[in-house]
Amino acid sequence: MSEKTIAIIGAGVAGLAAGCYGQMNGYKTQVFESHNLPGGLCTAWTRQGYTFDGCIHWLTGSAPGDSMFSLWEELGAVQGKTMYDHDVFWRTVATDGRTFSLYADPDRLEAHMKALSPTDSEPIEQLCKWIRQFATFSMPVGKPRELMSALDGLKLAFRLRRHLKALNDLSKTTMGDYAKRFKDPLLAAGLSEAIGAYTPLIGLVMTLVPMFRKAAGFPAGGSLDFARAIEARYTSLGGEIRYSARVARILERDGNAVGLELEDGTQIDADYVISATDLRATLHSLLDGTRQHETHRMLLQSGKLYPPCVQISFGVKRVIHELDECLGESFPLVRPVKLAGDDVGWMTVKSYAFDPSLAPEGCSVVTSILTADWEFWNRLREDRPTYTAEKDTIAAACANAIDARYPGFKDAIEVTDVATPLTFERYTGNWKGTFMTWLLAPDFQRKYGYVRKTIPGLDNVYLASMWTVPPGGLPGAAMAGREVVQMLCAKDGNRFVTTKP
Ligand SMILES: Cc1cc2nc3c(=O)[nH]c(=O)nc-3n(C[C@H](O)[C@H](O)[C@H](O)COP(=O)(O)OP(=O)(O)OC[C@H]3O[C@@H](n4cnc5c(N)ncnc54)[C@H](O)[C@@H]3O)c2cc1C
Repeated sequence: MSEKTIAIIGAGVAGLAAGCYGQMNGYKTQVFESHNLPGGLCTAWTRQGYTFDGCIHWLTGSAPGDSMFSLWEELGAVQGKTMYDHDVFWRTVATDGRTFSLYADPDRLEAHMKALSPTDSEPIEQLCKWIRQFATFSMPVGKPRELMSALDGLKLAFRLRRHLKALNDLSKTTMGDYAKRFKDPLLAAGLSEAIGAYTPLIGLVMTLVPMFRKAAGFPAGGSLDFARAIEARYTSLGGEIRYSARVARILERDGNAVGLELEDGTQIDADYVISATDLRATLHSLLDGTRQHETHRMLLQSGKLYPPCVQISFGVKRVIHELDECLGESFPLVRPVKLAGDDVGWMTVKSYAFDPSLAPEGCSVVTSILTADWEFWNRLREDRPTYTAEKDTIAAACANAIDARYPGFKDAIEVTDVATPLTFERYTGNWKGTFMTWLLAPDFQRKYGYVRKTIPGLDNVYLASMWTVPPGGLPGAAMAGREVVQMLCAKDGNRFVTTKP
């Protein structure tokens, strides 16, 4: 076993995963985190007895039957945790009260959609056919692309052979484009609203499939508890975390990374450095910006970023039971409003009443998430009064809209909290406050294969955050942490091993 040291930047899920796998494989690891908490984007905050969750809506691999489950077990993240599942992924309500429920079960979904709009049979059947086709599919957890031999590539292609055409079609089509194939405006709006019109259709299918298997639930206690479980696993494996320890730069000598320098000037020697933070900041701030792989350069210059969001959270002295069945709901505003520079015609609402640990008895957390314009919020960076006023305006507009749909809502509000893209940027350092990464162009894979986790011209430094696994998300982040340790083991001639607590 190796005695080598690894310095890991960032205690988000990717950094903690890298730490866990490093410890499992005999490396001596230390994680340096600028915040005083683990989790990064996978977080929650408590206000007056209400826990506002800032991340997990669904955790792919929350139950056996999905390949990610075993990985979450290795990280000690799911053992003994209750998972809350929903039958309806997203519900969309029209002005006239007609309701479209995006059931995860393709049979129920097909019957429901056809009952709403028999003339849309063709795109309905195609959508449900795709969901059924991938019913037993889960993301392969195996070797990183960097370590795959030609034979491994062939084996993977053979495994996916039945799905290649569908994967291609689903990646090329956005939700918005597919929605245009529907004559019924409610079905079209429901598909556009569910995960964003800009998202490839594959995102919806790969969300519904594990949900149907009840393997994409919400872990009781929420996102920060989930991150804390991985933190506990890491420290139980002998790993060390230093909080409030912002890394200022990666130290290098003769083309090799040799350690880190913290903001307070402390230097840390290490055989390897893993950066599990924002890719742009790693390349341009922690390093000098001169070296990057073509995939990094291309994506940073012209990749299309997921839009950031504003999350409005309410602690309310009531439970909206009408929202129990679904993960969330969209409904049109009686009068569209201009909010933070955007014309907003739809509102989203989600209740966390399913997890009683998040609010006092008889109360619940209700949230709304709106797509945000980064440039708008960025302009307010130095203008605190206007920034605060915009947050108040958004919160009031949301409260009014939810009150119009669920009368009495406003009177029950005890706490209001608004997180903007600047909030996400401030707490995690992610570029433009985004919470996912790039919406990859359909031909990215054909042209570039995958985003590289190494940097040309600089050895012994590895990239492990969600930014190396577009579009991002917790499974990608955890896999990135696992894969860089697999790469280190291969480099050091050690067999990669995993354990479960
Ligand atoms: C509102 C919202 C909803 C989401 N919903 C889901 C969902 O339902 N399912 C899902 O799978 N994913 C979801 N995600 C996405 C998921 O949270 C992220 O993809 C994932 O957490 C990214 O993990 P990461 O470790 O790669 O990066 P991060 O979480 O960004 O971690 C990076 C860490 O590095 C630290 N850091 C940065 N710079 C430095 C430095 N210089 N020195 C030291 N430390 C530093 C940061 O403080 C941070 O802790 C959601 C995210 C948000 C915000």
